[in-house]
Amino acid sequence: MPGSLLHPDPDGVELSRIGAVLLDIEGTTTPLDFVHKTLFGYARARAAAFLERRWDDPEVRGDVARLNAEHLVESPEPSLPLWRDNPRGVAVYVHWLMERDVKSTGLKSLQGKIWEEGYRSGELKGEVYPDVPPAFKRWRNQGIGIAIFSSGSVQSQQSLFKNSNAGDLTPFFRVYFDTTTGSKKDPRSYSRIAQALKCRPAEVLFISDVPAELDAARAAGMQTALCVRDPAAAPADGAHQVIHSFDGLLVPLSPDGSLPMPPIPAETDAAVSGWMRSRGWRVDQVRWEVDDPNMGFYVWQEEAPSIGGHALWLDEAMIRHLKAKDLVQLLERESVAEEIRISYKVRIEERGAGYRVSVVPRRSGEFRQVK
Ligand SMILES: [Mg+2]
Repeated sequence: MPGSLLHPDPDGVELSRIGAVLLDIEGTTTPLDFVHKTLFGYARARAAAFLERRWDDPEVRGDVARLNAEHLVESPEPSLPLWRDNPRGVAVYVHWLMERDVKSTGLKSLQGKIWEEGYRSGELKGEVYPDVPPAFKRWRNQGIGIAIFSSGSVQSQQSLFKNSNAGDLTPFFRVYFDTTTGSKKDPRSYSRIAQALKCRPAEVLFISDVPAELDAARAAGMQTALCVRDPAAAPADGAHQVIHSFDGLLVPLSPDGSLPMPPIPAETDAAVSGWMRSRGWRVDQVRWEVDDPNMGFYVWQEEAPSIGGHALWLDEAMIRHLKAKDLVQLLERESVAEEIRISYKVRIEERGAGYRVSVVPRRSGEFRQVK
C-alpha cells in the first residue's frame, strides 16, 4: 500500500511506508541562529565565569584535561594562545576554538555543561519551529518512531528538547544519536542507526538541511527529505525531496486524526454499497479507517444504531486490485452479509495472491433491543 499513509504534501513529497523518522536538529527542527547565535553566544559569554566557579569539579577537570591534550597537538600558528592552566587562560583558548568553529570534543563537552546550567535556570529555552511539536504528536499517533541524529552531544540534544519553547519534547523520542555513532556524512552511521531502530533502512525517513548528509543516508538505503527552512533560499539541486516545514509531511488530514481516504473507484463503491443494500443493509457513504499504522480499510457500516455499527472492512489493496464484479462475487462466496449480522465486523485483507477474512465478534456490552 505504498503512499497510503502519507498525504501528498504541498511540495509533492511522496514517500512509501515509514516506520521511523530520523531528524537533524540545526536547520531542521531548530533555527540555525539559535545554535550559532544564542547557544554559542551564551557559552562564549559565560565560559570564563563558569570555569572560575567550577574549576575543581571533577567533570570540568576532565574537559580541561581534554582541551589541554588537544592544545598540545594544535598546529602552531601565531594566533594560538599559550596554554595556561587556570580558568582565565582556558577561557581564552575556548574563545579561540569557538571563533574557528573547531569540532573539539573537550569544547563540546564544556559547552554542554554551560548550556545545561542555562537550561536549568530557565535562561535558555531550546528553540524549535512551530510546526515541529504538532508533527511529533501526529507521527507518534501513527506509530511512527522519532529519533535524533545531530553532531551536538546527546546530552545537549536532550537539554534542548527537554527545555524547549514548546515544553518537554523528550517523551516523543525513541533514541538519540550523536557523532559517537559515526560521521553524519558516512553511510555506515545510517546503517547502524537503522539497526538500532530495528527498522529496514527503507522504512526510515531522514530529514536534514545538509545534502551531503542526505546522500549518505540514501547510500545506506534510507528515504530522505531536504529541509529548506528559508523559502527564499536557492533552489535545491533536486537530488532529494524538498520540504519547507513538517506540516504536510506524513499528515492525516481529518481533525479526528484519521488518515485521508484514498480515492475509491465510483464503480466499486456503487457495487459494494448496492450489494450491501440488496442484502438488507442500510449503508450510506463509504468511509476510511486505519486499523493499525500499516493497514487502511474502506468501511461500509450499517446505519441502524440498534445493531451497533456492524460493518464490512475491505483492505485498500483489495479495492485497488479487484474489479467491482469480482469483489461482489467474493463477498457473496464468503457470506459476508450474513456474517456481519452476528459479528461486529468482517474484515477482509489481501494476503499475497489470496486474501484473509477475519470476523470480529460482537462487542461486549453492545446495546440490543428487546424486540
Ligand atoms: Mg543541520
